[in-house]
Amino acid sequence: MTKAMEMLIGHENCTSRSDRWVEIVNPATESVHASVPHADPQDVAHAVETARHAFDHGPWTKMMPSERGKLLYRLAELIAENTDEIALLDTQDMGKPYVHSRDHDLPTCVEFMLFFAGMCDKVRGSQIPLDPSKHVYTIREPVGVVAGILPWNFPSLLAVQKLAPSLAYGNVIILKPAEQSPRSAIRIGQLALEAGIPPGVVNVVTGYGDTGAELVGNPGVDKVSFTGSTEVGKAIMRSAGDNIQKVTLELGGKTANIICADADMDAALASTVLTSCYNTGQICTTGSRLVLHQNIHDEFVERLKAKLDLLHVGDPMDDDTKLGPLVSRGQFDKVTAYIAIGQQDYEPIVCGTRQSNLKKGYYVNPTMFDNVDPGARIATEEIFGPVLSVINFDDEDEVVRIANQTSYGLATAIWTADLSRAHRLAAQVDSGFVWVNTNNYWVPSIPYEGHRSSGIGADMGIEAVESYTKLKNVIVNLDPTPNPWGG
Ligand code: ADP
Repeated sequence: MTKAMEMLIGHENCTSRSDRWVEIVNPATESVHASVPHADPQDVAHAVETARHAFDHGPWTKMMPSERGKLLYRLAELIAENTDEIALLDTQDMGKPYVHSRDHDLPTCVEFMLFFAGMCDKVRGSQIPLDPSKHVYTIREPVGVVAGILPWNFPSLLAVQKLAPSLAYGNVIILKPAEQSPRSAIRIGQLALEAGIPPGVVNVVTGYGDTGAELVGNPGVDKVSFTGSTEVGKAIMRSAGDNIQKVTLELGGKTANIICADADMDAALASTVLTSCYNTGQICTTGSRLVLHQNIHDEFVERLKAKLDLLHVGDPMDDDTKLGPLVSRGQFDKVTAYIAIGQQDYEPIVCGTRQSNLKKGYYVNPTMFDNVDPGARIATEEIFGPVLSVINFDDEDEVVRIANQTSYGLATAIWTADLSRAHRLAAQVDSGFVWVNTNNYWVPSIPYEGHRSSGIGADMGIEAVESYTKLKNVIVNLDPTPNPWGG
């Protein structure tokens, strides 16, 4: 028996007018366990009209910003109170270990809501000093209707990452979660209503990519915030160009995790295990390139293999599991195809401890390829799985070249005891994040921005205000002398 969950438009839980459904496959069992509506163009138009109406005529934009903040605080509380349920939806839909979802993703959702709840009444414009004949000031206004298009790797977390800045700055939002993992976004939308956020401010339409494309193509949408593949990001940017919509894109990555010869090896090892395998390697910032100084290479690889072998691959509901299944058959095929490509030139080092009774599920063990050419496909293309390319380097110039040798520019990690070297390298690598002696550290106050093919604009930090508001300049002439040319 599959469970149907309706999408949310205005205050209504609703199905698609065409009565078409998206079936959700649990990647641990390979069986359909739930379904959501497949929104068609009419449904999308209805959602945009509803959101537009809430923005243009509802109480939301007229409210005191501090009142909006109180509603966001209440939503944070409700998400915290419903952690177990939402975490389970994500685990069932996309296979991440339940303990990771419950103990990391949901608490981070709450942190996001709290951060942006506090931002509601902190947005302000400025006054521009000129001669006494002019009074000039700027106002930051909400953009309007935001479309938040979500991927499946952090379903609830990324729903909140788009929801929180949108609402904090007075916008309304239509979320389009990924077809593989749509249910947590719907549940969070329902909680927004329960928190007292007016109907129409948070809407969730479900469906495949065509639903997302329909939403982005609607001229009633003022801004698109997308997280997903670079290919779809490019398509969204082209489509947004037709309507001159604001766009923020968070796209792929190919993080270089650089370990210098003087690094604290124990700390670097522990962090490498996490960054290469957390979420079964399905993170844009997965440290998929392990760039090792040649003097420590042999010891590091040997010790890493021993650590990776301790990781349990299996049922995401087991507390011991560190790697659940990949999200889908399609992702399994993609990751195993990359392993086959790597195998043409390198011997795979298969690691991990696989639960013995797994009969089904899209499981892949952590897999390393050693001494990989930095230009090889497995070392430059995003795999989005627990597949590690080990690359050697000798000096700083070489490691900078390697770090910048992909089209992506999302993140780099540098492990060294030499502070000056850390800053020298940080200045030269072209990526939105540079972690020094840590990895994958992100909190809501740090803006998340990719360079090159990894994205445009920031969804987090106080910098998010740039992309979630628009600027208005008010120029008041104080000079009573008539001037036909203005000025
Ligand atoms: P992945 O490759 O990681 O599966 P995608 O980039 O294909 O992710 O999809 C991320 C999100 O974008 C999903 O919600 C998907 O339905 C949506 N999507 C796919 N194609 C389009 C498109 N052309 N326009 C808008 N959204 C799309």
